Amino acid sequence: MFKAVLIEKDEAGYRAGLREIDDAQLPEGDVTVDVTYSTLNYKDGLAITGKGPVVRKFPMVPGIDLAGTVRESRHPDYKAGDRVILNGWGVGETHWGGLAQVARLKGDWLVPLPEAFTPRQAMAIGTAGYTAMLCVNALERHGVSPDKGEVVVTGAAGGVGSTAVALLSRLGYTVVAVSGRPEEADYLRGLGAAEILDRAAFSQPGKPLARERWAGAVDVVGSHTLANVCAAAKYRGVVAACGLAQGMDLPASVAPFILRGVSLIGIDSVMCPRAERLDAWGRLVRDLDPAKLDAITDEIGLTDVVATAERLMAGRVRGRVVVDVNR
Ligand code: NDP
Repeated sequence: MFKAVLIEKDEAGYRAGLREIDDAQLPEGDVTVDVTYSTLNYKDGLAITGKGPVVRKFPMVPGIDLAGTVRESRHPDYKAGDRVILNGWGVGETHWGGLAQVARLKGDWLVPLPEAFTPRQAMAIGTAGYTAMLCVNALERHGVSPDKGEVVVTGAAGGVGSTAVALLSRLGYTVVAVSGRPEEADYLRGLGAAEILDRAAFSQPGKPLARERWAGAVDVVGSHTLANVCAAAKYRGVVAACGLAQGMDLPASVAPFILRGVSLIGIDSVMCPRAERLDAWGRLVRDLDPAKLDAITDEIGLTDVVATAERLMAGRVRGRVVVDVNR
């Protein structure tokens, strides 16, 4: 038997809670992992609270991320004792996920735990941090560099945002953080933000073009915020869009793209090819300051997951939350 968060949906409604589950109920897979840490991402919050249609099969163990040690493997690349991590691939959505003491998975989804990280650090990064790295990679691949000007990060006090601020400042960028939490200004400056702007200035309908300001942008918010970020991008500016915290819509005009040559780059972490994942994790080892990672991380136990997911959805969780699945 093992402990897990389980989401159920039936005549009694949609609910999530801690359960004891028999190993025999684990799904198909060629690798069984003893999970040590998982984490809470925005998508896990949507799944656990039922606020978004993330879960496609019930009952479901949520958790799009996990770190742990291989217990048994029929996959040629993994053997018992190997330390591994997993991000995405529909785990926690269509296949039982990481908010559990045990997971059974496809070995092809796994990535070896980078030697520089403990399992807890890897989960402090998690999908949010790895997505922030994919965004930074995308900006650089499309020509953004520190000398080109300011880079803006929206949803800055959240998980993706905090990691993006820490990464970009470490890489020498002038980072402007957009946040709805003025009380987190010192936190954001500590991560390396040069300036903090109120998200209210971004969240309403704006003009098709605004004063050119951003050489690059990491947007986790979508909707009017993303439209306004694009409208204020500099000539040939690059915007990496990965989230929908304000909304899934994009009420924008084509003006920034056809008049200023702005590029809007979509970022997906879930199905991201393995080579790019390995590259992103390699860069996280080099480019993320471990002290800043500590500063953005809080820890909870499996028993606190449901309550913390509610707080995450209410925008009251700062940075990243790691989950010790054995407490
Ligand atoms: P968090 O909840 O940790 O952070 C989201 C942040 O967005 C909040 O902290 C808040 O920042 C801001 N925010 C929340 N609601 C609003 C709103 N109504 N208007 C404007 N800003 C708002 O989530 P994550 O960092 O884990 O994820 C952020 C987004 O990125 C989510 O939409 C998630 O689905 C997406 N994502 C996408 C991935 C991909 O592969 N494409 C991977 C990972 C995440 P503040 O308090 O500073 O204002």
